[in-house]
Amino acid sequence: MDSFRRFQDDDYKNWIKTTMGLNCLKTRLGGFLEHETETYHDHLRNKVNANKGDLCTTQCNLKKWMPRPKQVPQVCEVCEPWRDEIWANHSFKGGQVYWNNSKPYLWPTKKWEVAKVYMPRGNMDHTAVDQFDISAFLNLMTQCSYFAKFVKSKTLITQVTNVRNQVMHSADFRVEKRELESYLGRIKDLGQALKTHYPKFSELTEEIEQLEELQCVRVFLEGNNDLQKSLAPQWERLTEVQERVDTLTFRVDTLEMNTRTHDPEFSTDILKYKNHLYEEARRQGWPEPVFSEIKEALGYRGRVQVRGQTFEGVQVCPKSKTAHQEVAKLALSQLAKDCASLSELANDTEEGEASSSQTDQPQSLSCTGPVFFGSVTVVLKTDITSGEGHSGMTEAVQSAYKKLALLLDLPESASSYKDVVLEHCHTRDVPPPEEAVQSDAEEKTYQCTLRFTGPITFYVPEGSSKKKQACQQAAKVALQRLSGVLGSKEVMGGNYVSTLKELLEAQTPQLDKPAYDVTDRGRGAGEVTERGEWRNVEG
Ligand SMILES: [Zn+2]
Repeated sequence: MDSFRRFQDDDYKNWIKTTMGLNCLKTRLGGFLEHETETYHDHLRNKVNANKGDLCTTQCNLKKWMPRPKQVPQVCEVCEPWRDEIWANHSFKGGQVYWNNSKPYLWPTKKWEVAKVYMPRGNMDHTAVDQFDISAFLNLMTQCSYFAKFVKSKTLITQVTNVRNQVMHSADFRVEKRELESYLGRIKDLGQALKTHYPKFSELTEEIEQLEELQCVRVFLEGNNDLQKSLAPQWERLTEVQERVDTLTFRVDTLEMNTRTHDPEFSTDILKYKNHLYEEARRQGWPEPVFSEIKEALGYRGRVQVRGQTFEGVQVCPKSKTAHQEVAKLALSQLAKDCASLSELANDTEEGEASSSQTDQPQSLSCTGPVFFGSVTVVLKTDITSGEGHSGMTEAVQSAYKKLALLLDLPESASSYKDVVLEHCHTRDVPPPEEAVQSDAEEKTYQCTLRFTGPITFYVPEGSSKKKQACQQAAKVALQRLSGVLGSKEVMGGNYVSTLKELLEAQTPQLDKPAYDVTDRGRGAGEVTERGEWRNVEG
């Protein structure tokens, strides 16, 4: 089941770009640390000043040693001076130090056995630079004071650790555009700081900037068969996304060609701008757009009022229907450009209403036959969790609210996701989610769980010619969006309505039956808020 919504695709690509950015950094860190760990190891050897012949005869090992803050393990007298030097350079003495990652008897001869004391658990069996992950590298650089001289502030490193955690713990493989810019920026900043010490970091910025191209992602994956295998489901989605982008590009091209050749008769395939504008208004909570047209000597010029703005078409079309499509497209592209300031405008309804009252009176809308738009409302009682491993409490809380915001299909916002969700709950008279934050004090990680109880309505962007189909479409959207919450189930004979019903019944506690609603936009229906069980599916 393809659970992608129209606006999600880019976020998935952003997730891949972030992991690729981390990979570019990791490759260079490997070279840098191979060299610097060697230097550090030599430095320790001099400090320990051991007689070359002194070797650990008891094969000291720490397999059974449990990490305890501020404590060092007992070792033999040959290993002892090494232990003390490693400890003296440890800047995380109050936390969990994984001495048991390493084998003390190898300290005098193997640099990575020393380095592993500054790494997180799970590195016990790693002995060469290629075997460590980026988290191991970043920990080494923050926990070993030798590396402090390479970066002015540890924040440069912890900011990248945070990116790595966000990507690793992302349950839905999604990163927003704004986050992507911030994430790649942090990776570049660390590269910039290190380039004077290791010249290969110089190309990092350029390489990361190339990631902006979608094509790069595919080329990268095509060249990395292992990764492609392990990312198989995501790879399929990516291909699908690319196909959709191609289709849409083709449609836009066709449209523009039609415009240029003064043949404004739109094909049925692209008679969608008007619907999309209605859907967007509904998503954003704006009043329903009002279409009208101005009669001119050669035909009609479209006009639409939406979000307090009035748009007028740039061309004169022989039919009013076409004029509406043309102005809807114009309005959509203008509104998309305003996207950055969208959230501010959403809070700006008073001004918006004031300006809309200044515009001309709308003329009556010409009908284009029945077009049914389905929606379904599901009342949820569910826990949304941030995933583990957030280094800060605020971060864990925001991450959980972000997931809930996506589920509720709330617009991106310049303010926090928590604010957006609480605002939504407030305006819809839904109780705010119950927040619970768990922390693992020793590991310093946080997880946030939100219990959300309330209705969510799922709208279908495209209209259907039949009511029954409109309901099936609505159920399909709900199933896709809720797959992370309700789980999934095979859809028999295309009957999404009955699958949704069964899945809701299968929840513990059992959830209420969904409520369907169908409006005929061809006749210009208003907002639908009424709930009721929809009974006509089987009929
Ligand atoms: Zn020993």
